Amino acid sequence: MMQRAGATLALPILVLALTHVAAQPPHSNGNASRTTWLDAYREPAGRLIGEAVSSTFAWQRLSVLTDTIGNRLSGSPALDRAIEWAVAEMKRDGLENVHTEKAMVPRWVRGQESADIVEPVRHPMSMLGLGNSVGTPRDGVKADVIVVHSFEELDAKASMVRGRIVLFNAAFTNYGETVRFRSSGPSRASSYGAVAVLVRSIGPDGLRTPHTGALQYSNEAPKIPAAAVASEDADRLQRMSDRGERVVVQLKMDARFDPDVESANVVGELRGRENPDEIVVVSGHLDSWDVGAGATDDGGGCIVTWEALRLMKVLNLRPRRTVRVVLWTNEENGGRGGLAYRDQHRAELSKHVMMLESDGGVFRPYGFGFSGSDRARDTVRQIASLLSGIGANQISTGGGGADIGPSLQEGHIAGMSLDVDGSKYFLIHHTQADTIDKIDPVEMAKCAAAVAVMAYVVADLPKRLGE
Ligand SMILES: [Zn+2]
Repeated sequence: MMQRAGATLALPILVLALTHVAAQPPHSNGNASRTTWLDAYREPAGRLIGEAVSSTFAWQRLSVLTDTIGNRLSGSPALDRAIEWAVAEMKRDGLENVHTEKAMVPRWVRGQESADIVEPVRHPMSMLGLGNSVGTPRDGVKADVIVVHSFEELDAKASMVRGRIVLFNAAFTNYGETVRFRSSGPSRASSYGAVAVLVRSIGPDGLRTPHTGALQYSNEAPKIPAAAVASEDADRLQRMSDRGERVVVQLKMDARFDPDVESANVVGELRGRENPDEIVVVSGHLDSWDVGAGATDDGGGCIVTWEALRLMKVLNLRPRRTVRVVLWTNEENGGRGGLAYRDQHRAELSKHVMMLESDGGVFRPYGFGFSGSDRARDTVRQIASLLSGIGANQISTGGGGADIGPSLQEGHIAGMSLDVDGSKYFLIHHTQADTIDKIDPVEMAKCAAAVAVMAYVVADLPKRLGE
C-alpha cells in the first residue's frame, strides 16, 4: 500500500483537471439544447468523481471480502457468507430495498487432484481440474499422451486417440479463440475414445500457473475427466513428444457434483425520486472459481458497481429513476443468477432503462462498451465526456455481460460493460494469482467513479435513455 500514498495528494489536481475539461462543450455540433442538459450534470459528476478518488474505500471493501471470505464458488459456504456479508454491508450503507433473490445453483466440488508424468521419469505437473469435470477412479487414469494443437489435428489423428490422454496444446492468442479447447475439447477427444484430456492453460504464459474454468460436456460422448496444466508443463510434454518418447501421464481427480443448492442474487437500490419504477441496473458477479480470492473475477466488479449507489447516497444525489445494484450468483459455472433475474423480473423488464455489468477487471478504466440504439449511444457518448478527466470517456461497441445477457435479450434492453485496461486480466484469470494485490486502489476508485457518473446520469436524464 505504501506506493499508493500519492493517491490522496493527487486528488485536488484531478478534480481541477476535471472541472477544466468539463468546461468545454462535449461536441461543437451547434446543438445548444444538448449542451444544456449535459451542463446540469457537470457538478454532480465532479462530486461523484471527487468522492470516489478521495479514498480507497472500494479497495478496502474488496480486501475485506477477499481476505475474510476468500474465493466463492457456487454452492460453497464461502459464497453463502459473502451473500450475507453483502446484504449487511448494503444495509449499513443505507441502500434501500436490500434483499436476496433465490436461485438454485450447481455445486461442483474439486476435491484432491494431481497430474504426474510417470514415464519415462516422474514429473509432477502444475494443474487445475476444469470446472464441471467428472473425477477419475480412485487410482486415477493412466495412459499415453497424444499432443494436438487444433480440432482439425484431433480429427486427423482420430485413429490414434483411443485409450489415450489428449493434450490440447494450442498457444494462447486471445481468450475467444482458445477457450474452446477448454470448453469443448474434452467431449471432442472423448468422441474418439480418449480417456482424459489435458489443456494448455487458457491464458498468456505465466510462472507455472494453471488456469481453471468451466468445460461443457456434449451429450454425444462419454464424460471424461479434464484438467488444465501450466504452459511450462504443456511445453515439456510437447518436447518429449517431439523427441518421439512415449510419455505416460497419471491424472487423479476427486471432482464431483453434489445436488443443486439454494443460492441468491443480492439486490440493493436507491429508489428514484420521480420514476422509481424505471430501473438502471449496475452489477458484477459475487461467485468466483475456487482458487485465488476472486478479486479481479469478479469481486472488484461487484464492489465498483455497488460503489455507484453508495457514492450517490453519501452525496445525497437521488436520480429520477431507480438505480439497482445486483451481485449475481453462479456466473462461472451455470449462469443461474442471470437466468433467475430474467424470470423473476419478467414483468418489469420493459421498465429497465439500461443494464451494466462489470466483469473485465477493475484496472484503469477506458470507458464503456455499449449496445443499444444509435440515439441512446449518442447520449451515452455525451455522458462519457464527463469522464474525460479520469480518461474513462470512450464508448465502444459490444456492451453486455454473461449475467445481464438473458434479460437484455428478452427485454431488448440497452447493455453496458465497463471497459478497462485488460492487459493483465488473462494472466491471473481463474488462477491462484487472482488476489487483490494485482489491483491498484486509485484505478479501482476511478472505475467506481466512472460507473457512478454513468449510472447517475442515465437514471436522471429528463427523458428516458433512447427517447
Ligand atoms: Zn467473471
